[in-house]
Amino acid sequence: MNFADSEILASILTADGYTPIDDYKKADLILVNTCSIRDHAEQRVFNRLNEFSSLKKRSPHVKIGIVGCMAERLKEHLLEEQLQVDLVAGPDAYRSLPLLLAQVEDGQKGINTILSESETYDDIKPVKTDTNGVTAFISIMRGCENFCAYCVVPYTRGKERSRNAETIIDEARLLFEQGYREITLLGQNVNSYKCGTVGFPQLIAQVAEINSQLRVRFATSHPKDISDELLTVIAQYDNVCKSIHLPVQSGSDATLQKMNRKYTRQWYLNRIEAIKRIIPDCTISTDIIAGFCGETEKDHNDTLTLMREVGYSSAFMFKYSERPDTFAAENYKDDVPEEIKLRRLNEIINLQRELSLASNEKETGLIREILIEGVSRRNLLQSYGRTSQNKVVVFDNPAQIKAGVYANVKILRCTPATLIGELTQSRAHR
Ligand code: SAH
Ligand code: SF4
Repeated sequence: MNFADSEILASILTADGYTPIDDYKKADLILVNTCSIRDHAEQRVFNRLNEFSSLKKRSPHVKIGIVGCMAERLKEHLLEEQLQVDLVAGPDAYRSLPLLLAQVEDGQKGINTILSESETYDDIKPVKTDTNGVTAFISIMRGCENFCAYCVVPYTRGKERSRNAETIIDEARLLFEQGYREITLLGQNVNSYKCGTVGFPQLIAQVAEINSQLRVRFATSHPKDISDELLTVIAQYDNVCKSIHLPVQSGSDATLQKMNRKYTRQWYLNRIEAIKRIIPDCTISTDIIAGFCGETEKDHNDTLTLMREVGYSSAFMFKYSERPDTFAAENYKDDVPEEIKLRRLNEIINLQRELSLASNEKETGLIREILIEGVSRRNLLQSYGRTSQNKVVVFDNPAQIKAGVYANVKILRCTPATLIGELTQSRAHR
């Protein structure tokens, strides 16, 4: 999401006469687009700020701005003297950047952290700054009102709002014409997308119909509203990718309830059963939090058994990190000791390695269509691409078939993270 937001920032600043550059050491303005989801993310930003402020000592004309969730959360505290920050702008304040920068040029500090109920930046054409030219993100909604007890997002990104459908389709069409072949539709909870009569299943169908050569992915779905109607649309279109990210967070009913996730273990498993029934060749990935407030050994075991039952193809796994002002911070004790959190997280990670390997092993011997995304970083004679199921395949590419082309590969072997394949045929058109 921040990646997509940075493209909006680049667009607004380009219109104001700025040009994006690769090397921050040569920049006149450095904007740090920040995340507040866990304390670790914020600490990394503070480390970067140290680096930037020493640059500023050498080149005092350099301006430094903090944008995004940390700006929203910490507001004027980020303007404290030692941080050397000139500008602070929350996620809904990016249109005011030229104004804020003018204030900074006048020797003042610039700050805007007002949240909006309607801002979607829908008329802004993102400027791609860091792209492989093949895969792109499109934000389709902003904000979140689910208020999971641990989560800072509803406070830093404000109310949920959907972007106008026509501007989404136009942007996707333009990206296709520019050579992009895969679009990921982004939102904190894409299933509640609504623009007039267009809900998420209709939106995804409309994007898929732009061209059968354009792949469509999406993130993230909240389990409470992943509908059969959506699953049916995914099954119906070959170019809607067969992989669903469905964060479970915990396998324990007691923990899910404390987290305010609004579903039970059984309810979640019923949705998994629906995915497996309606889209048989679909991979399922997830997010898991280890050591949430009050989590017992039994709760933790419930997470492990659920992971096995689902058979996730991959997962993002985190230690619970208390975020100030959230429901959990205000009402529960962060009472799982650090070493127990870490041990549980490691058990989750080790089990996921096993499950990822098992999921990849099922692919060996199969021929899969991949979209080539680029040259392998480790071996320049190899390229990599992704299957519809979102698995990365590395393969020898002596003919140097380019990124953006669909190719068939036979899967020869695998690691928990990667499939190794060989080209059987490639083509520019489906
Ligand atoms: N809207 C998405 C998730 C956005 S945050 C959704 O609901 O699926 C991405 C992930 O970060 C969450 O799924 C959760 O697993 C993790 N996360 C959020 N807050 C956290 C916290 N306080 N501590 C640890 N992990 C957290
Ligand atoms: Fe956070 Fe829950 Fe909203 Fe996801 S759905 S962003 S975890 S509050």
